[in-house]
Amino acid sequence: MDFSLDQATRDSLVELRIWGREQVRPVGLEADREARPIPVGHAYFDRCLERGDGRTHWRPPGAPKSGRSSSTLTRLLLAEEFAYWDRGVMIAGPGPGLPELSVIGGGTDEQKERFLGPFVNPDRPRWACFAMTEPGAGSDAAAIQTKAQKDGDGWILNGAKCFIGGASRSDWILVQATLDASKGRAAQRAFFVERGAEGLGPFKIEKKMGLKAYESSSFTLDHVRIPAANLLGGEARYERRAGFKAAMATFNAGRPVIAANAVGIGRAALDEVILFARKHDLLTDTRVRDRIEAIARKVRMARLVCLRAGQLADEQRPNIVEASMSKALAAQVAQEATSQGLELLGAVGGRGDHLIEKLYRDAKAMDIVEGTGQIQRMIIARNLVGLPR
Ligand SMILES: Cc1cc2nc3c(=O)[nH]c(=O)nc-3n(C[C@H](O)[C@H](O)[C@H](O)COP(=O)(O)OP(=O)(O)OC[C@H]3O[C@@H](n4cnc5c(N)ncnc54)[C@H](O)[C@@H]3O)c2cc1C
Repeated sequence: MDFSLDQATRDSLVELRIWGREQVRPVGLEADREARPIPVGHAYFDRCLERGDGRTHWRPPGAPKSGRSSSTLTRLLLAEEFAYWDRGVMIAGPGPGLPELSVIGGGTDEQKERFLGPFVNPDRPRWACFAMTEPGAGSDAAAIQTKAQKDGDGWILNGAKCFIGGASRSDWILVQATLDASKGRAAQRAFFVERGAEGLGPFKIEKKMGLKAYESSSFTLDHVRIPAANLLGGEARYERRAGFKAAMATFNAGRPVIAANAVGIGRAALDEVILFARKHDLLTDTRVRDRIEAIARKVRMARLVCLRAGQLADEQRPNIVEASMSKALAAQVAQEATSQGLELLGAVGGRGDHLIEKLYRDAKAMDIVEGTGQIQRMIIARNLVGLPR
């Protein structure tokens, strides 16, 4: 396995390290202290746009390429570095976010132009998000109840979604709904629901133990009227299970990114532990060194599996097992690293104002989002023995 990096990736990592130290970490600590998401009008988001963030990878036909590397390996390394400084701030950043790949892969040309076009060169920080989870359907995404009913040549949506990242500030939400809940996955469709649509909301920002820099919102859809043009991919695309498959593709692409984030959190915990041990003259204590060694070894292991998942994606080879392994392993390692770190710092860690304590709270969600650890382990096992997923 060759994970050597090109010069452009190295330069991006150095640049991100500086950005992380000077901008990301401070704004993340501020949001955590104030226990609220970074407000929409925060100067940090304007600085993101100035830096070139918040843009889509999609290019209108005939437009020059963005110049940004699209290799999965590079994206994973950048995701790790960003999360090292603050994973919540990474998710809070403007941009088309989680649904971007679904729209690039499954949207009509007109939908790409309409919904991703404003992210090509955004005039202001803009967000979009993907809404699958419901109060009664998390891991079992096939059980969603948000109903889509045909209405003339459009649709009416009714239902409730929860824990959706950035929902209240998004220009549009890609909402997963079902034509008939009794027909399971085959009946699912994704709809662009635009900001301000009648019947959308109210939004309630959830309380979270960590990752406070970005909002996770619940909202209802009460007779929201959707034009026919807002069905992702148009009706022609919905041959058997295409709607559900598209949503799952979003998650499959996302798992190694979450794993990379978890590796970043684990690395941050490791650095905090070493810093603390050095400051308090503990590096000569074998027990302390053993703990540092164990954290470092596991973080390195998790990174290797994560990069392997990315490398397979770059080679366009199946990576479902590696993607799930990377997420199951890295999320676990991040929790262990932060927990061990907290323990090692003793009262200083438990006081509630040290970074290690925040990392401990941030790490937990890595095991929940985009498929819990248990679900990843089920996917891995079913694949290994050749059962359908
Ligand atoms: C910080 C955060 C951000 C999020 N952002 C988004 C977002 O932007 N968009 C979105 O759509 N969703 C989002 N979610 C929701 C997330 O995807 C769900 O929380 C996740 O899928 C788990 O669902 P659940 O919370 O309903 O737990 P459940 O599915 O109810 O699971 C509860 C427990 O049971 C276990 N379990 C469930 N089924 C099985 C099984 N068959 N076998 C063994 N064990 C099982 C799970 O592993 C878990 O431990 C977010 C969640 C969090 C915490």
